[in-house]
Amino acid sequence: MHISADTELATLNTLALQGRARAFARAEDEAGINHALAFARAQGLAVVPWGQGSNIVVAGDIDALVLQVASTGRQVISRDDNRLVLRVAAGENWHRLVGWTVQQGYAGLANLALIPGTVGAAPIQNIGAYGVELAHCVVAVHGVRIDSGEPLRLGASDCAFGYRDSIFKGELRDALVITSVDIQLDERAAPDCSYPSLAAQLAENGIIQPTPQQVFDAVVSIRQARLPDPAVQPNAGSFFKNPVVPAAQAAALLRAEPAMPSFAAGNGEVKIPAAWLIERCGWKGVERKGVGVHAAHSLVLVNSGANSGQRLLQLAAEICASVQARFGIGLDIEPRIYGAPA
Ligand SMILES: Cc1cc2nc3c(=O)[nH]c(=O)nc-3n(C[C@H](O)[C@H](O)[C@H](O)COP(=O)(O)OP(=O)(O)OC[C@H]3O[C@@H](n4cnc5c(N)ncnc54)[C@H](O)[C@@H]3O)c2cc1C
Repeated sequence: MHISADTELATLNTLALQGRARAFARAEDEAGINHALAFARAQGLAVVPWGQGSNIVVAGDIDALVLQVASTGRQVISRDDNRLVLRVAAGENWHRLVGWTVQQGYAGLANLALIPGTVGAAPIQNIGAYGVELAHCVVAVHGVRIDSGEPLRLGASDCAFGYRDSIFKGELRDALVITSVDIQLDERAAPDCSYPSLAAQLAENGIIQPTPQQVFDAVVSIRQARLPDPAVQPNAGSFFKNPVVPAAQAAALLRAEPAMPSFAAGNGEVKIPAAWLIERCGWKGVERKGVGVHAAHSLVLVNSGANSGQRLLQLAAEICASVQARFGIGLDIEPRIYGAPA
């Protein structure tokens, strides 16, 4: 496997932000991953695992070996009458996997159609969309430790999955390269169509008892109509997580802002759409110095020509400050930030 020095990353992240990796390798299989990790250990280099760069902000040059995981393969590891457990290599494309599962008649992943990126990155933030999270179908995550090359298996309950969160962002942050994910699919599981925009789209098409394929098609059509394509307008999807606040704080805000949408988040907490907060602060469609807030989606920041992660992060900081000042709510950035400031 070829390991290159001083490699530009702009074409390897969906925000198209510029920055150079001290070293770069693309591993097509587990042997390649192990080889690259051994190289990094021998050179004393840190390792940054990389998928398709759809949830990353390149904020400057990265003093590490950027290891793009491009391994492929799907294997049925168990099957009974209705259930199937698949082991999927980390470099497989997520959306293609979802498409394959619905073609086979399995409902579980249909709501997660068209999320960019790889299977190996999916557990990192427990990807979620249209009322469904990856966590509900993960059986195990397999990886290899960056510091020792030791293999590691985590059962689903070891992964500490939460809203856009997992052990891979906490205790095991930067500790391993995920090599494959075991995913369970159940033929009897009814598609989850409770999410309002999904339910509305299906109703509009006169579909009452949707098949997995129909849910998949509805999600694809909603996403294509609403979300900017990174190939046209470089972006990383939602830039901020939806904040979760104590119920008392949400109630006080609702008295001042009765139109504020809010959703019960369990444990006496309430989730508030970050997009609404940002829009109320007047940021929708604002563009400055080659970065901006998408005109139709306040949650999506776009690189409109600056190609600079620093500029994007400056804009994000201004947005956070104004939301904090007006609503007393801190916003968290969803993508992972890498690279030293220029
Ligand atoms: C237009 C758009 C829409 C999106 N919509 C959604 C959505 O609806 N829901 C949602 O949850 N997300 C969404 N995302 C975010 C993104 O698609 C997901 O987070 C995805 O899982 C990232 O995959 P990736 O391969 O691009 O990971 P990368 O961006 O390359 O990496 C993301 C993080 O995972 C780590 N990582 C990647 N691969 C591995 C590995 N094999 N082992 C260990 N660590 C690894 C990286 O180090 C990094 O910290 C969207 C992004 C875009 C651009």
